Amino acid sequence: VSYNPTVGLPLSKQGQLPHQQSHHKIFAALKEKIDSINHETCDAGDENSFFVCDLGEISRLRNYWTQILPRVTPFYAVKCNPNIEIIKRLASMSTNFDCASKSEIEKVLACGVDPERIIYANPCKASSFIRFAAKNGVKKSTFDNIDELYKIKKYHPESELLLRIVTDDSSAQCRLSTKYGCELDDVPVLLETVKELGLNLIGVSFHVGSGASDFSTVTQAVKDGRKVFDMAESRGLPALKMLDVGGGYQFDTITEVADVLNAALDYFFPQETHSDVSFIAEPGRYFVATAFTLAATVIGKRNNSDSESMIYINDGVYGNMNCILFDHQEPSPRVLYHKNRFHYMDINSSSKAKCDACNYKVSIWGPTCDGLDCVSKEYYMKYDLDIGDWVHFDNIGAYTCSAATPFNGFEQTVDIIFIDSAL
Ligand code: PLP
Repeated sequence: VSYNPTVGLPLSKQGQLPHQQSHHKIFAALKEKIDSINHETCDAGDENSFFVCDLGEISRLRNYWTQILPRVTPFYAVKCNPNIEIIKRLASMSTNFDCASKSEIEKVLACGVDPERIIYANPCKASSFIRFAAKNGVKKSTFDNIDELYKIKKYHPESELLLRIVTDDSSAQCRLSTKYGCELDDVPVLLETVKELGLNLIGVSFHVGSGASDFSTVTQAVKDGRKVFDMAESRGLPALKMLDVGGGYQFDTITEVADVLNAALDYFFPQETHSDVSFIAEPGRYFVATAFTLAATVIGKRNNSDSESMIYINDGVYGNMNCILFDHQEPSPRVLYHKNRFHYMDINSSSKAKCDACNYKVSIWGPTCDGLDCVSKEYYMKYDLDIGDWVHFDNIGAYTCSAATPFNGFEQTVDIIFIDSAL
């Protein structure tokens, strides 16, 4: 199935803005906000960085998911971006939720979502959090070790459990199997313990890591999942009925990965023999990365020469661009508003490498006093930026505001302007 470019993504592959269809609305929202700020007279912080979020983009991506992965129900990984508007939009489109903690569960329940639609997908949970899940009717959760089973037996014996297995995530940018997942060799002892404790094992889960370049790991993980189904059956446990294929899905490779995943599900879980098995996934970044644009203003500048300067902006790696440190992202700065040129959202206004059009070299720094707070060591701009100009970063909705810190006193207010390009 190929994505229909008339409804949006992923045009970035062709060198165009991913928000091609919603470009004008995003532009209008950015412009309106920037025009309202007078740098000469505004209150402290009125010119803080801000996001524009296109909820229409999220809807398009949700519809596309159904189109390409019809057998797989998505449980949005709230940790990726826990904004209430996102939760509400996805909830209204038959999306369920993957929560990692008490407060994420609380947030999703507060949006009116039934606890049946939540999976507490954290293999090592605090006992008090397990009690909280029990009290609030959240039954589905993951585990990968014996000690967790004893806690669950004690505090939430009605749990519906999914055994998380390890994957080969060596090609992934963000690896998770170094921390979680049980080796196949260790599965038998866990199955025996489940049986002994009389717990309710309903399925298997895995996560192949995020930003993987080798998609054959998905096939291997589904195959391993099927092995665990068979191991459970051979030990006389009730038939497993759920396979959770985790997260790590990205907008630019989703079509390719979906082909691999569908083929693996059809092969290892054929409809004829496994029609009662349901498939779920825990996508985070897929739904939100491309829906967000971040605008930040230039607050300082040091000229190194006529063609090179250090630019200081009011967001950085301790703020919304923590994704540089924690999520291996490389946000691309683009000129958003250049006060001498009245220039907005010029896609060709910057380049990673020096070229004829972009030959003004900058390094871009965040606002804290820490030397680590560097957004880009080297970038090439079309124009020499000045204090009061604005830059923007696309595709910046995943693992950004969710992990921003108030380090150096820069409180994170998370100012988001919502638009809906689907309306
Ligand atoms: N599920 C689990 C258990 C995770 O730990 C994560 C991310 O850390 C996700 C889902 C979401 O991953 P992504 O945002 O890459 O889809």
